[in-house]
Amino acid sequence: MTSRPNLTRTIPILPVAAIADGATIQARSTSGRFTRWRWALVWLTQLAYYGTPWLSFNGRQAVLFDLQADRFFLFGAVLYPQDLIYLAGLLVLSALLLFFVTTLAGRLWCGFACPQTVYTQLFQWIEHRFEGDRQARLRLDRSPWTAHKLARRGGKHLAWALLALWTGFTLVGYFTPIRDLALAVPGQLGPWEAFWVLFYGLATYGNAGFLRESVCQHMCPYGRFQGSLMDANTLYVAYDERRGEPRASRPRGSDPGQQGSGACVDCTLCVQVCPVGIDIRQGLQAACISCGLCIDACNKVMDQMRAPRGLIRMASERERSGPQTQGLGWRGHFARRRVQVYGGLLLLGTGLLVASFAERPTLRVNALRDRGVLTRQIEHGAVENVYRLQVMNALERPRDLRIRVYGIDGLQLTSDDTLHLPPAGAAQHSVTVRVDAAQAQALAGRVVPIWFGVGDVEASAAVVELAETRSTLLLPR
Ligand code: SF4
Ligand code: SF4
Repeated sequence: MTSRPNLTRTIPILPVAAIADGATIQARSTSGRFTRWRWALVWLTQLAYYGTPWLSFNGRQAVLFDLQADRFFLFGAVLYPQDLIYLAGLLVLSALLLFFVTTLAGRLWCGFACPQTVYTQLFQWIEHRFEGDRQARLRLDRSPWTAHKLARRGGKHLAWALLALWTGFTLVGYFTPIRDLALAVPGQLGPWEAFWVLFYGLATYGNAGFLRESVCQHMCPYGRFQGSLMDANTLYVAYDERRGEPRASRPRGSDPGQQGSGACVDCTLCVQVCPVGIDIRQGLQAACISCGLCIDACNKVMDQMRAPRGLIRMASERERSGPQTQGLGWRGHFARRRVQVYGGLLLLGTGLLVASFAERPTLRVNALRDRGVLTRQIEHGAVENVYRLQVMNALERPRDLRIRVYGIDGLQLTSDDTLHLPPAGAAQHSVTVRVDAAQAQALAGRVVPIWFGVGDVEASAAVVELAETRSTLLLPR
């Protein structure tokens, strides 16, 4: 008899240690809806990754993180280190999106878009091309080292190495103009570029070629806390044990009920295709990355047995444990409070981030005191302080700027108050601020706040779009 469903806030997940046996996993390939989705995501993410640095915008690389110049170019937007707050916002939104998706449908990120999974899938595809499917690879594993084995293994590793190096090269191409990098590759790469191409290439080679699912099982923290994000209504890849058990083989098209068996024919195909080498029939496990390949494999078996599909399917704990019709449907899933809270925060956060990014300043200024000349008295009792202004142009056009100083009466700039900045350029500009004798006497011995403003000088000579920064004025006794 089916026990009463446990619909607590989180659902039980078998720990990794219970299923990992350390053996090399040779997953069998399969086909079906989830396999197609996985390849669609591989194409989408990898076209974006490998293709983006080759795009141009306004005559320069569209996405370039120029660390040497402290400038980031993003399709015409020029960002400075002060804009890293947007990156922080993006990371917060990414975490919220992960929570939202996990609450809805478990580890979809892991199975479909995580770089570890995606590169493992690409490396496995290469392996399949050189060494064949699961049985052929197992045979090759056991066979002695012959010229045939050497050629297949060598070809695979060469292809892996090339893909890994291309991946490393592409990563560096986000930080150094990729066309210059490509011209330098034959042997003129700088030491840092060469280091990062090799380092990231090696990391890709090791992670996707050898470590594979071990990274998900033993290094990634997400698998460990996924349970706290899931509840009884969260969809995950689940085996329908009420329909499948007891397992037994049977003739095609036969009715399992008449034989006293369940729908599962114990073919183990769902285990053979699993990239992390687990048996989903034992229940949800921390190592399961929700790739859905076992669903594809089992659906094919059910088709061959002329039985209904869905012995393994996306199902919630409520659906598995309660009456068969208790699934919420997609509308019901989005109506759940937890999903709505994450979704609402996601929408709100996205709106705020987009609005603040659109309104970000296109001119920035910082004032630094000149440490060599803190304050000096000049003729007739006037006092001068010297500053260095760092002015940053976040537009892709040159700008003529004027500097102003204000905060107390009697202030004036005695140095050049004009500045020309090239497109997306930054400059340090030394300025001298003088306070007249009467004010210097009235404020003697005090440190008073002042402000520097920098604005565009338009054709009408008006100064517009002021960027402002605060500093202090030292007045000797
Ligand atoms: S159990 Fe199924 S969904 Fe989970 S990792 Fe294995 S094949 Fe993918
Ligand atoms: S693929 Fe389906 S029928 Fe075959 S062992 Fe797995 S659950 Fe049973």
